[in-house]
Amino acid sequence: MSSSRHFHICTRCGNCCRWPGIVRLKNVEIDRIADFMGLSVDEFTSRYTDLTPDRRGLTLTDREDGACVFLEGDNRCRINPVKPDQCRGFPDRWSFDGYEQVCPAIKIRYRMRQVTHTGTQLNNTALAGRPDPYHVTPDPPLSEADPMPAKPDFYYRQSAALPYRWNDGELDILLITTLKKRHWILPKGIVEPGFTPWDSAAYEAREEAGVQGVIDQESLGEYETRKWGGTCRVQVFPLRVEEVLDEWPEQELRDRQWVPIAQAIEMVTTPGLDTIIRQAAARLVGA
Ligand code: SF4
Ligand code: SF4
Repeated sequence: MSSSRHFHICTRCGNCCRWPGIVRLKNVEIDRIADFMGLSVDEFTSRYTDLTPDRRGLTLTDREDGACVFLEGDNRCRINPVKPDQCRGFPDRWSFDGYEQVCPAIKIRYRMRQVTHTGTQLNNTALAGRPDPYHVTPDPPLSEADPMPAKPDFYYRQSAALPYRWNDGELDILLITTLKKRHWILPKGIVEPGFTPWDSAAYEAREEAGVQGVIDQESLGEYETRKWGGTCRVQVFPLRVEEVLDEWPEQELRDRQWVPIAQAIEMVTTPGLDTIIRQAAARLVGA
């Protein structure tokens, strides 16, 4: 069974970055952008954000000409790999009449396979089935004296994809580097409210590693990492890779490498991740 969907190829005209309006930031996005720019959260928010008109959150600052502060001369986004979901979702996930009159993105139609009993078929997009992120409950109101709310519990619930493929009968794993390219890891991220852990993991695999395929809804287990003054628990889901993209959002930020499973176990340094990869080998080789 299949259904027709579409996505757009952006022509980089920059129009959407010049429109009047706000880019409402989620807390997780503030952390990501600050980290990407090598700034503390306080430095980032004071230099590049303003309170939204309803005083319920933060928005990116405008330049004097009204364009977003991160729009560069060649219409590229200075923070493209970590730009907010609101920007990332345009025009695919925005729907208003007449957007084509201001957005010349090229519309591409495609057919998408549906869920099977073993996993979610994520053919052309890992966004399949994700809810509209703009319907996430907004953060509590901010005040001038208390500009940053505490991190919510969902920050500490993450999911990762373990991308794999068969290569002449051998099982290969795709690893990526951290943003500072110091360690080899799996693509992973926060499971935001309303998202399933496996769809979120598949989304991160596309964003961070440029691969998509069939994500298994049965977790391989979880490991823990220390972050934001607490412990993040990361559930891991195998992703059978069907497509390796030539271009992907974080390609300039990370390296990626296919390696045999024994080598992957040697390369990862995060405690517990080697065990997860061994469990993947046991499950997949035995499958
Ligand atoms: S963050 Fe980037 S994509 Fe979003 S409005 Fe600013 S320049 Fe455009
Ligand atoms: S208006 Fe459309 S084509 Fe232009 S930069 Fe924005 S998404 Fe791309």
